[in-house]
This record gives sequence, C-alpha cells and structure tokens, in this order.
Amino acid sequence: METANIAKLAVAAAPYAIDKPYDYLIPEGMEVSVGVRVSVPFGRGNRRSEGVVLAIGEGEKFPGLKQILSVLDRESVLDRQEIDLALWMRQRYFCTLYDAVKTILPAGLWYQFREVYRLAPGIEYTAAYAAVQEIPACAEMLQLLFAKGGSAELSEMKEVCGEGCVSALKTLTGKGVVVCESRAQRKIGDKTRRMVELALSAEEAMEIAESRRRAAPVRYEAIRLLCSAGRISASELCYFTGASSQTLRALEKAGVVRFSQEETLRVPEIAQSGEAAPIVLNEEQEEAYRGLLSLMEGGRAEAALLHGVTGSGKTQVYIRLVQEALRSGKNAIVLVPEIILTPQMMERFSSYFGAEVAMLHSALRLSERYDQWKRIRRGEVRVVLGTRSAIFAPLRNLGLIVMDEEQESSYQSENPPRYHTRDVAKFRCAQDGALLLLGSATPSVESAHWAREGVYHHFFLRRRYNEKSLPRVMLADLKDEVRSGNSGVISALLRREIEQNLQRGEQSILFLNRRGNSRMLLCGECGFVPECPRCSTALTYHSANGRLMCHYCGHSEKANETCPMCGGIMKRVGVGTQKVEEELRALFPGVGLLRMDADTASGEHETLLSRFEREKIPILLGTQMVAKGLDFENVTLVGVLAADLSLYVDNYHAAERTFSLLTQVVGRAGRGEKTGRAVIQTYTPGNEVIVSAAEQDYDRFFESEIRMRRIRRYPPFADLFTCTISGTDETAVLRAAVRLREELKLESQQEPIRSSDPEVLGPAPAPVVKVDNRYRYRILWVGKNDKATRALLSYTLKKFALDRQNRGISVFVDCNALE
Ligand code: ADP
Ligand code: ZN
Repeated sequence: METANIAKLAVAAAPYAIDKPYDYLIPEGMEVSVGVRVSVPFGRGNRRSEGVVLAIGEGEKFPGLKQILSVLDRESVLDRQEIDLALWMRQRYFCTLYDAVKTILPAGLWYQFREVYRLAPGIEYTAAYAAVQEIPACAEMLQLLFAKGGSAELSEMKEVCGEGCVSALKTLTGKGVVVCESRAQRKIGDKTRRMVELALSAEEAMEIAESRRRAAPVRYEAIRLLCSAGRISASELCYFTGASSQTLRALEKAGVVRFSQEETLRVPEIAQSGEAAPIVLNEEQEEAYRGLLSLMEGGRAEAALLHGVTGSGKTQVYIRLVQEALRSGKNAIVLVPEIILTPQMMERFSSYFGAEVAMLHSALRLSERYDQWKRIRRGEVRVVLGTRSAIFAPLRNLGLIVMDEEQESSYQSENPPRYHTRDVAKFRCAQDGALLLLGSATPSVESAHWAREGVYHHFFLRRRYNEKSLPRVMLADLKDEVRSGNSGVISALLRREIEQNLQRGEQSILFLNRRGNSRMLLCGECGFVPECPRCSTALTYHSANGRLMCHYCGHSEKANETCPMCGGIMKRVGVGTQKVEEELRALFPGVGLLRMDADTASGEHETLLSRFEREKIPILLGTQMVAKGLDFENVTLVGVLAADLSLYVDNYHAAERTFSLLTQVVGRAGRGEKTGRAVIQTYTPGNEVIVSAAEQDYDRFFESEIRMRRIRRYPPFADLFTCTISGTDETAVLRAAVRLREELKLESQQEPIRSSDPEVLGPAPAPVVKVDNRYRYRILWVGKNDKATRALLSYTLKKFALDRQNRGISVFVDCNALE
C-alpha cells in the first residue's frame, strides 16, 4: 500500500457514536501543522466540516481517503498539552473530541471564521436582482439577503436554501453583486448594550438546542454560546454566531432567552505593579505557607487542602505563593467561584501583580475574553485570575493552581461536557508538575476525606486574622410557630431581633434559599419529611399524579395528606422572595427594604448593594447571592428564613451545600466592630447539619456526613453516573431507558467491572421531566469512575445511539452531578 502524509483530525460533524480521530490526506504543497483548524468533507454527503489537527505522520493511503480542503488558521490554536487534555476530556466526560476542543478554546476564537455575505458596496438591490433573475438559485439568495436586511451568514443561508447556495454565492460574488467578508473583519459596535441571557437552565436550553441541531444550526450555536458565556450583549451574540435579531426574538418568544438593558460593570482598573505593601504573614499563616511552598518547590504534581475559616487570611497565603511561583519563573492560575461578587479579590491581585495578571470572568465581553486569551497565549501574562473556564487559560509552565472555595458547585460545568474544574486542574498540574491548592472555609466532603486519608496534604488556618468573634447563632423552630398560629414566614424570634436592629439603627440581611426544592412535602407538626426507602433522599411531590417520587431510583408512592408519624397536616414547602417581601412590609410598615434575587437584573446587583451600604437601608432580603462575599460594617443580624429548603433536596450533595451556605450566611453578621447575631429558622432543629452549622463546627458536620455517605454509597465511596435519556415520545423514552438499564445490568456482571460491585437503578424521572416537549428519564449507575467503567459506559452509549430502535432518542452521561 502506498503511503502519504496523513493528518489525524477531530471533526466537528462527527456525532458521539462514531467519533474518533479521523485520517485525512494532506494534499501536496499544503502547509499543515498540529493544532490548526482545517476544513474537510465529512460523511456520505461530504458535507463541509471544521476539524482540528491532532497529529501528523506517514500513513496508508487507503482507497476512499479524503483530503483536507483548506487550512483555516495561520498559527496553531492548540498545543500538544491541550490536545492531550482534549483526549483526556473525551474519555472522561463522554463527549466528542471536537466538543472537548471547543470547551478548551475561547468562544470568540471559535466564531472568527464564519463567512458573511452582503450586497457589494454601491449595488442596489433592484439592480442586482435584475442582473441575476434568470438564475433561480441566485435570485433566491438575493431575496434572502434582502429579507435579512442586507447581510447573512453562510450557515444561515445554507439552512434556508440548502447546499446549492455555495455555487450560487460563487456566481454572485463573481458578478460583483455580493461580497464575502470574514466576521473577524467586522467591528463590534461600542454603543449601549442590549443584553441576552438564558431564561432556562443551561441543561434545559441545551436540550432544546440539541433537539434541532441539524435543522437549526444557528440557533444551536446561539444557545451553546449563551450556555458557555452567560449573559452577553445581543450584538455580540449575533456577531459570533451569525444569528439574526429575528432568531433572538423567536428564542425569546419560546421562553429560551430573555433580554435586559445595558449594565455598567465596575471592573477595577489594572494598577501598576509593585505598589502594594509587602505581606507579613502571622504565625499560623506562615506555617501553612511554608508547607505549601515546599510542596510547590518540589516540582512534582501535588494536591493540598487549605482549610481556613473566613477571614483567616487564605487569600494572603495565595498571593504569597503566587509571588514565589513567579520568582522561580513559573506561572499561576487562581480560580474563584463568582468573580463579580469578589471585586476585592480582583483589586488585591491587580495591586500585587499589575499588568502581569489577566482577569477572565463572565462580566467580560466575548471579544475581551478572546483578547485576554491572546495575551496569555503570547506569554504577556503570568497570572490568571478567573472563574471556572479560566482553568483552560493557555498559560504554560504552571507552578500553581489555586481553587478558592473549592466546594462551590459553580466549578462544575452545567452544559456538556460537564467537567469538574478540580479534575481538569489535577490533569494540568500533572502535566506541569504543579501544586493544586484547594482552599475553603467549608471544604467539600470529598476533599476533606482525601485530606484526612493523606491523599491530599492538609493545612489549617483556625483563627480569623483580626481575632473577631463569630456571631451568636439562635435556632427558631418553625413547628412552634405553626402551633402558636403564626402562618407567616417570619418567626416571633426573628421578628424581635429585627425590631431590635431597627431601634438601634443597625442593618439586617434576610436570606431565602429559593434554589431548593419547592416541591417537597413536610409535616407542619413534627417536621417529618417523607424519604425514599431505598435512597434516603427526600421524595419530590408531583402534582400531576399526586405522588411522591424519588429522582434517583424511580421509587414512587402515594402522597398522604396527613403525616404518617403524628397525624399532622402535610405542607408543601416553598416560598418566593416576593411573598416574603409582602409579609415584611406588613410587619414593618414604612421601613426601608431592598429585595435582590434572580429576577433582579444582574446589572442592578451592585447598585442595590451600594445603596444598601450607603443609605443604610434597614433590611436586605435576597437569595443565595447575598450569601457570598459581602462585607458590611453595619450588618449585625442575619436571618435564614428556611434552612430546610436546600437540605431535603434529592442530591447527594444537599447536606454539604446547606452546611456551607449556612456557614457563609451566618458569617455575614458582625463584620464590623459590633458582634453579630444570626437566626436560623428551621422545621428540623435537631438535624445534624443545622446543629453543626449553628455551632459552626465543621468537624462535627464532616463526621456525621461521611458516615452517611459511606452507608448510602455516595461519593467519595462510590461514583454516581447519571444517564439521561430523552425524546418526544414518553413511552418510547421509557422503553429505551429500560433497554439501557438491562444492557447495563448485563454488563455490570462482567469482570473486571463486577468486582467493584456496581448497582444499576432506575429509570427515574429527571427533576424537570418535560422540557420543550421532550421527556427525560434517568438511569443511575453506582460504581467506580475508573477506566474499565468509563470504557463500558462509552461502549454502551455508542451501541445505544447506533441501535435503530432508539431513533429520535438521545442519551448523555454525567458523573457526580452537583445540581
Ligand atoms: P480569607 O481569604 O481566608 O477569607 P483574607 O485573606 O481575605 O481571608 O483575610 C481577611 C482580612 O484580613 C483581609 O482584610 C486581609 O487583608 C486581612 N489579613 C489577613 N492576613 C493578613 C496579614 N498577614 N497581614 C495583614 N492583613 C491580613
Ligand atoms: Zn430512591
């Protein structure tokens, strides 16, 4: 067999079931290097698709070998290490190679090659039409351009007119009627911004996008971009994806996106470096720092947990370590869960590292993020501070990766591939022999476990730097309120405390964790919560059939109106901030009150917060966004309105999240001179999680939680793989789900998988069963996230996708999903 120059490619158009590195012939004279993007024919119809070159070498020139059509990048966009990362992500997260590559690269880069066609300058529509009207395909193109307001993107035109438009456009450009310009050449307007964001969860939105990925690729790209970028300006969204304003309006109508007005963000100016005073660590900080420094200088991949209470100086330690990393010629990435809530962090980093630090976060425009990426790639930046996706920053020669508040669920991607930042960080540290430093005031149970087992190094900061005492915590038993006839949300105790604050002119923050499950049943008399006999998670109430269901294993039972324990009346739990606001206004007439929740436009948050501080408005009511990073002198009272809401959620992670939230919220009180108080309202004051949070006793929480996890086979003792099966026909989805379960059960009996004793459960309905007319059910695999299991799941998924019986049904897999 003849040999030739062959490139191995990740191809965009390859679906998961048949995805692999594909061989393509490099034509004579074409310059192709590893890491560049190329255009190739793919599949039976030889549709044009993008690809990325993963490797180049001599190979067999077998018959039917297709060749690369053109090279799209002048320079590589991916280097060897990033290609390895993509290969790893693909097997770890059950995604295609191309999806992995797309996740690693910034969105702005991705869309720079879109082709846009417009009427040539000086050409009038009617004249142009007259010139080509005898060629129907060309006339059709022109009509489309006209309808689109004079310009349209190639993919958009293909969507409407089919592949034939390529030759028609060639004719039109040949006649000088239209011109083609790369999107990268167009300027983004700098005027006022109309912002777009998803109105659904990323998962639901992706579900909708995927369901018509082929038919409406532009819509798909637009949703995908919103999933990864969060809130962005409408003009940028159109610019990068080629979507038209009609597309956006249609998405708004369908309830997928919503619009809002321009926000002005106060991202701090980058200060000159070297201005900040040198850091002098206290004894405790110095000890942790010394230990961490010697790990970092060892030059081997290591992981350490820094468990330090809020205000103990973790950030000071991070900064010292980053300084040392830079001194020894290495670079560093520092990750935070939500940067916009921690402007102080940005200021601190820029005062120490000046122009050497790049900030990557969701408040940046896509084009700004892309510019930062280019700066980093060119080596102009040595420190990256950012949120989740900053873990993919193209910094080389890493000495340190810091993950602050490592337990936060925002570190897990909501859209596929649903990577966890911690895993990606470990992979990158292994590549560079770097130190991974996990910092937290309330570490995740997994991390604390590995630290105690000696897998991670363990360091502590036990005291607040200013030695300020923690607030006094009181529990209000909501069962007593029900008994004494108080049907409202504010307990007598909390009411008294608020009144006291009003008299003294001090401020109060009230916190409602609305993110919790509002469809849980609970006894108003004894606090009993119906749980699944098999999973010990709270059952969810489904009003459609009046039944209680378990979202892990599918167990279902009739919902009783009375409590099986005490005969009391069962209540549906779940209140919104608006209802609470009404009640507060009635209780405290004429008292100033601010409300901040998901309905408050995100641009207003800062304004609200600064008003709260400046105008000393007595009460701030909000959802979890008030829990983090806020630091107000005059706040001396914090009220948690319904601690149970996030506790009895059917996720293995619920107790941990509640403990962490309560600890953070309670920590909001008494940051200034005066000592603070906190009131936690709960139906279950005896619950270990609530008690340990009230006592701010992490060890107590950890001991009870780890025991639970061991008994229930939850992480870290097992890994939970969720296979979500979806389609428009519910019966077909259920049937397919059962087939998948049987298949997995069969496979679980094979060695070597069998030795890890996997369990296969389900099908169970997904938390939101029906989204955009698609029904979603889940199969749960409890086992071990090792090579053998992943290979088996991947094999089964591919087989499932290729099975004709499963037409129209899609499936994806997640591991240890936090939401
Ligand atoms: P954490 O990150 O653990 O919440 P920080 O690093 O933000 O703690 O420290 C809390 C506060 O104490 C900050 O205002 C910080 O400036 C101050 N602080 C902590 N350690 C020191 C130190 N060694 N020298 C001066 N100020 C410190
Ligand atoms: Zn169950």
